[in-house]
This record gives sequence, C-alpha cells and structure tokens, in this order.
Amino acid sequence: MSQRIYSFEEHQLCMKKVDSDALYVMKKLRTAGYIAYLVGGSVRDLLLHKNPKDFDICTSAQPEEIKKIFRNCILVGRRFRLAHIRFGKKILEVSTFRSGDNDLDELIVRDNKWGTAKEDALRRDFTINALFYDSDSQSIIDYIGGFEDIKKQVLRTIGQPFIRFRQDPVRMLRMLKFQARFGFTIDDSSHIALLECRQEIMKSSPARILEELLRMLESKASEPFFRLLAEHGFMHLLMPSIGNFLDSKDAEEVFSFLKEIDNYFMESDYINLSRAVLLTALVFPILEKKIYTHYVNRDIILHLGQINEEVHELLDEIFRPFINLSRRLRTSLQSILVSQYRITPFDSKKSKRIRIPQDPDFMQAMQFFEIRCTLEPALKVVWEQWNHALTNPISNKRRRRKKKVKTDEAPSSSTT
Ligand code: ATP
Ligand code: MG
Repeated sequence: MSQRIYSFEEHQLCMKKVDSDALYVMKKLRTAGYIAYLVGGSVRDLLLHKNPKDFDICTSAQPEEIKKIFRNCILVGRRFRLAHIRFGKKILEVSTFRSGDNDLDELIVRDNKWGTAKEDALRRDFTINALFYDSDSQSIIDYIGGFEDIKKQVLRTIGQPFIRFRQDPVRMLRMLKFQARFGFTIDDSSHIALLECRQEIMKSSPARILEELLRMLESKASEPFFRLLAEHGFMHLLMPSIGNFLDSKDAEEVFSFLKEIDNYFMESDYINLSRAVLLTALVFPILEKKIYTHYVNRDIILHLGQINEEVHELLDEIFRPFINLSRRLRTSLQSILVSQYRITPFDSKKSKRIRIPQDPDFMQAMQFFEIRCTLEPALKVVWEQWNHALTNPISNKRRRRKKKVKTDEAPSSSTT
C-alpha cells in the first residue's frame, strides 16, 4: 500500500488538543534536523475525539542524539532503548523509528533495529495504531490504511494476522481491548486468527498480560473487555477458576462489579481506585459464592482466621496457574477481601462493635465496600457506621481505652 497524506481539511484533528510539551519536543527535534511525529494511541484517540492518555513521539533521532538535545531527558529500557523527557510530573516518551520483521513466524525476542518512518509504522500492531501526525504541516501520514479503518470502525492487524499474533500473542488481548473500548468490529481474517491462535497466549510474559489486564480495569471499559475475554476463551487459559465462574449462572455478579468500576472512572478522571481494589472486583463474587455454598448455607459460622485461609486458597487457585501477582499486590488483595467480612461479620454479636483494625489496607477495603453498597444499597447503613468510626477516631479511641482499663482491672480484682 502506498503512503497517503491527509490534510487538516480531511482529518480535522485540532492541534490545540495536542499536548503543548509534545508540540515543543517535536519542534525542537525538527529544528535540530530530525523528523518527529506524534504516533500511535494519541493520534488514534484524537481522531476519535477522545482524550489521549499519553502523547508518544517517534523520531529519526537516535536515543543518544535525543539526550543531547533535551536536558530533562533520561534513556530507559535495555531491550527497547527509549528517551523519557520529563515535564514536572509528566513524562513524554520519545522513540527512534524502528524496523520489524512482519513475516518472521515466531515469538519476537528482540525488536531494536533502527528503521525508517514507514518501517516503524508497519511493525506496529493494528492499522488504527500506525498513524503519524506531523504538527509542522498539520497532516496525517498513513502507510497502511489506518485512517480509513478508523472511519469504518474496523480493527485490522498490520500484515498476516496469524503471523502477527504468533510473533506477539499479547496483540490478541490488545485487539479485544480496542474492541471493548471503541466498539469497533474486528475484520474477518483477524478474527479467525484470533480464535485459532488463542492458545499462544500462554507463551507470553505473565507480567505483560497482568499489566494489560490491570490497565483494562482502569479503562472505563472493563466490563465489555472481560466479557470479550471470556467469550473468546482467554479467561479459561489465563485464570481458569474465573473462566469457570464466568460460564456459570452467577457470571453477572462479576460483570456488575466491573460495570460499577467503569462508572466510577467515568464519573471523574481523578478517581483513585488502587489496582488491588480493582482486582478485588474480579475475585470477591467467587469468594462470596464459595463461602456461602460451603459454610453459610450450611449454618456454619466462620471466624476471620478461617476466612483468611479460604481467601489464601482461592487466590492461589486463581493466580497460580499463570499470573503471578507481586507480593505487595497479593497482600493487599488478601487483606481487602478478608476485611469485607470484618466490616460485615457473620457473628451478629461482633457486628455491634466497631473496632478499626491496624491494617494499612483497611481504607482500600472500605473503598471496595463502598462499591458493594452501590450494588447492594442495604449495606449503606453499615458503611455509614464504619465511616463514622473512622472519621471520629477520638470517640473510638476513648471507647477502646475504657475497655483497656476494664481488662487491666480484671486481674487485680481476681487476686483480692
Ligand atoms: P492506550 O490508549 O491503552 O495507551 P495505545 O495504543 O497507546 O493504547 P500503548 O501500549 O501505549 O497502547 O502502545 C503505544 C503504541 O505502540 C501503539 O499504539 C502501537 O502502535 C504500538 N504497540 C503497542 N503494543 C504493541 C505490540 N504488542 N505490537 C506492535 N505494536 C505495538
Ligand atoms: Mg498509549
């Protein structure tokens, strides 16, 4: 396919929407004699009238050359050498044009050969992610038909889909992610390849997969995404226990939590739900089902120690087969899940007493409990009691001190 250039009249991408620091970086690179374009997700999102998460820049300058131009620049990555240019809290990623071998039918392990702008576009995953924006001429440069695909709302791999998925199976999850986010349709040959290559996902790095899943939990489209993952058989491969649950009649329990999380993020861009809270949404309905089936429905009252054990076992069952959670994430997830039963204990005597635990993850547990309250409004009164205790620590402390005095007195009275 030959290169096509779209003028402002054709694409209508408004330069005011481009991050001003990204414009500055591109201008400075051009002044130094290099080519510099905006690339990937930001160009796609701007054409779709969405706010890009980040503004990546691609250039003909090599990493060391970029570093010489910008004082606020560090070079990162061993496999992919990239420049990070810092503006306060914001970091702009600047990468050198690279070439890839789109016909190589095996897992890619190295991907760091410099190339031309065209080669760089062709090594990318989907046509809609391979557009360049030249801020100097305000034009869009398209080597692969991505502009038309955005207009037609089609997701298409660049090159042979079977080969491109085998080279990097994470691309299959990325394809479903864009389908969930934009509601685009996957073109037929990419879809057939996706179904036939799905087993290949097990060859990918678990850390990369977990990162894509966590990013999707934060994406405002986690509910459609996890539906698509389940429908295409990926949940069975990556987290079989969740896969089985999503096949059962209780599947909607998980999806309603995910929908609620999506709503939270849609309400405000400043919502701060930790990754542990987000993962809890996937696990909690399964834990509830287990606890109710094995204990509550048989009138067996569980204490927190037993619940802790059950949670531990369930997390092993879910995450051990493929995804390895970091110790920090796993500890928080465990704690948030167990705390749900601290907040609403099965033992009715305990529910009358509120004792704030010395647990660094307890506020996250309360955040998750608040999400539960939106799905189950009857819980709201309990949330209010706990919130009152948390926001009035003095009266809570006083109550505890009184109790301590009582217990301190107990031994002396028994000696008299
Ligand atoms: P998001 O909005 O979620 O950040 P994105 O498309 O920007 O979506 P990134 O992970 O930020 O995703 O990747 C930036 C760009 O790098 C993509 O737009 C795509 O061009 C390219 N890319 C990312 N992952 C791959 C991959 N696995 N194979 C080929 N190209 C990729
Ligand atoms: Mg991006």
